[in-house]
Amino acid sequence: MKVLVLNCGSSSIKYKLYDDDQQLADGLLEKIGTAQAQLNHTIAGRKKVVSVHEVLEHQAGIELILRALVDPEKGVLASMEDIQAVGHRVVHGAESFSESTLITPEVLAKIEECIDIAPLHNPPNLAGIYAITNLLPKVPQIAVFDTAFHQTMPDKAFMYAIPYVFYARNHIRKYGFHGTSHCFVAHEAATMLGKPIDELKLITCHLGNGSSIAAVDQGKSVDTSMGFTPLEGLPMGTRCGDIDPAVPLYIMGKEELNLQQINALLNKHSGVLGISGISNDFRTLEEESAKGDRRATLALEVYCYRLKKYIGSYVAAMNGADAIVFTGGIGENSDVVREMVVKDMEFLGIELDIDKNRARKRGEAADISKPSSRVKVLVIPTNEELVIARDTRRIVSET
Ligand code: ADP
Repeated sequence: MKVLVLNCGSSSIKYKLYDDDQQLADGLLEKIGTAQAQLNHTIAGRKKVVSVHEVLEHQAGIELILRALVDPEKGVLASMEDIQAVGHRVVHGAESFSESTLITPEVLAKIEECIDIAPLHNPPNLAGIYAITNLLPKVPQIAVFDTAFHQTMPDKAFMYAIPYVFYARNHIRKYGFHGTSHCFVAHEAATMLGKPIDELKLITCHLGNGSSIAAVDQGKSVDTSMGFTPLEGLPMGTRCGDIDPAVPLYIMGKEELNLQQINALLNKHSGVLGISGISNDFRTLEEESAKGDRRATLALEVYCYRLKKYIGSYVAAMNGADAIVFTGGIGENSDVVREMVVKDMEFLGIELDIDKNRARKRGEAADISKPSSRVKVLVIPTNEELVIARDTRRIVSET
């Protein structure tokens, strides 16, 4: 089955076209809303083609992507009718969705309701759904939610200690994100360990521009670091993560910042960028730290220390762990971060093999722990789009 996977952000669209599990094409359209939108389009096994276009909104962007897919030279499909289903990444499904679902008018209405608690994320996801409805009206569409995997969290894990009415009335609670990635790598880890997932306690660390960690007990998420929004939890590239809630209030008063300004400060100017004053890119931070930049080193130390503490707390929450899994751009590629996080954790049965960690090849899954390590340390490349394509295929075949 040929499935198009769309991940629509506010000014970008990522896409992958699959035939069953085989990737036929992928690409990224950036700077939507301008006359200089750039399309990077790659057919599997061929060179990337870059082109610049005026693309003022998402539907025009998706039309451009569809045209690239059927282009006689740089395309891969004979006609748009070859696309049998479209799978969308949808960030927030709140408490309405604990699994991927066929998009019906009722489902669409519920995703629209979630705009209230995900004003930045759900509108572009919805724009992608509306665009496909207009451009390919007969094609079934599936929504795959970032929040769905974490809907198994018990209430003691997702409840904030604020007046209950804000949960009951305003749905304020921890939701968690990156669920598709946590779910994927947890299942891959079970395969690597040769055990059924329902016999495993796993701690999955998705470390990218956004970073989150999850405690996965018997295949179910029982806790995760991101919260009501993706701002909670670990410090990230530009987001502050966990913070004393009095700090933003204090800064607002002192600096006379309004809501929009404090939101930007915590989301865009904080994290490792805020601490280092240099970059949110871990490659740059590692280079500058190696050259002796104290604040670059401090940013890496804060990030890794906070992650280490989360691992300890999830071992406590699950009464043990069989493996710690690293994934995402940083988790997959930074041996420096992995070493800083899991070294000196022998007390918990975590023994890193430093040589295996440093020698791990890009793009490959690897066990980087010592044979004696009670808790395995695994690096597993994530593939959220493949999960979306598989869920889409399964749901379309069932309906
Ligand atoms: P996103 O959350 O946007 O999907 P990614 O998972 O692609 O992000 O991760 C991006 C992050 O991965 C960036 O901070 C980048 O610096 C980091 N990264 C990529 N390659 C390396 C590397 N070789 N060493 C350290 N960090 C890396």
